[in-house]
Amino acid sequence: MNFPRVLIIYTGGTIGMVNDPITGTLTAFNFNNLYDQIPELNRLNVELNTISFEKPVDSSEMNPTYWKEIATMVFQNYNTFDGFVILHGSDTMAYTASALSFMLQGLQKAVILTGSQLPINEIRTDGRENVLTSIEIAAAKNLNGAPRIKEVAIYFENNLYRGNRTTKISANAFEAFSSPNFPPLATAGIHINYNDDNFKSPSKELILKTKLDNRVALLKIFPGFNAKVYKSLFDIENIKGIVLETFGAGNAPTDSLFDDLIADYIQQGGIILNITQCQSGAVEQGLYETSSFFQKIGVIGGSDMTTESAICKLMYALGNSNNNADVIKILKHNLVGELTIV
Ligand code: ASP
Repeated sequence: MNFPRVLIIYTGGTIGMVNDPITGTLTAFNFNNLYDQIPELNRLNVELNTISFEKPVDSSEMNPTYWKEIATMVFQNYNTFDGFVILHGSDTMAYTASALSFMLQGLQKAVILTGSQLPINEIRTDGRENVLTSIEIAAAKNLNGAPRIKEVAIYFENNLYRGNRTTKISANAFEAFSSPNFPPLATAGIHINYNDDNFKSPSKELILKTKLDNRVALLKIFPGFNAKVYKSLFDIENIKGIVLETFGAGNAPTDSLFDDLIADYIQQGGIILNITQCQSGAVEQGLYETSSFFQKIGVIGGSDMTTESAICKLMYALGNSNNNADVIKILKHNLVGELTIV
């Protein structure tokens, strides 16, 4: 009998660390010994292969170059495997998942990111269950034999979330992620319950998009913020787009200096993408007086995108367009399930 084939890509993070009993620090374990750490892998009806970053990294080191490496690994192995599991540090996992969703468009197979809060050799590690269930989900098939999940997702502590809807909410709880604006794709209990209604239905074949432009910035406003301090950010030579984290449904204080900075920046060709600081809900520019100016001068409403997704989408849009009209079109469009069009 042919078992489904799953490729595990190890990038780093706590999941691949073990406690050094002498120094007490966390060090990367030899990934070839994965079966020693999780002997249950031998009992899965899945054929597993593993590849690892040459030098595994803490996910704080992640950047577009690493994202390109991961996306290319998936792309190059796409026809050989039925699904993919990416072991990754949890700190920036939501950014990587968002970036990969834009870089691997038209996926017909699962790309599941997972990791853990405790190293794999700790007695109470959450890593073992996260890895085993992620593999099971990556290998899952429909009745017609096609992969059940066909997108980039994060599996952590019993929930499978759409990758570009996910955000890290806890530095220490096992339930480290949430997806405030989109329901889980699956929930694992005694059985894995798939919420098929929430799945994406890809129409195209896989296309690898590796061009990301990281000349972007993130600005979170707060009551009393002094626009003068941020003046240098609105420098079109070095910053091509800014994600603006605003209050509530997309509001900002009325401040003529800030308004001028934004209006001039847009006039010079800069892109401003407005998302909310709230955990859930969406930007609706023009709903309040305090956001109608944004609407008038061409700030783009980012609907209910997470910060992680907004940053990655802006990098993607800038990297894959020749002009601002195209960038804006991409940003407004629901490309890979990252935002709700109202
Ligand atoms: N600092 C680690 C990382 O993100 C934490 C983790 O793996 O959860 O790589």
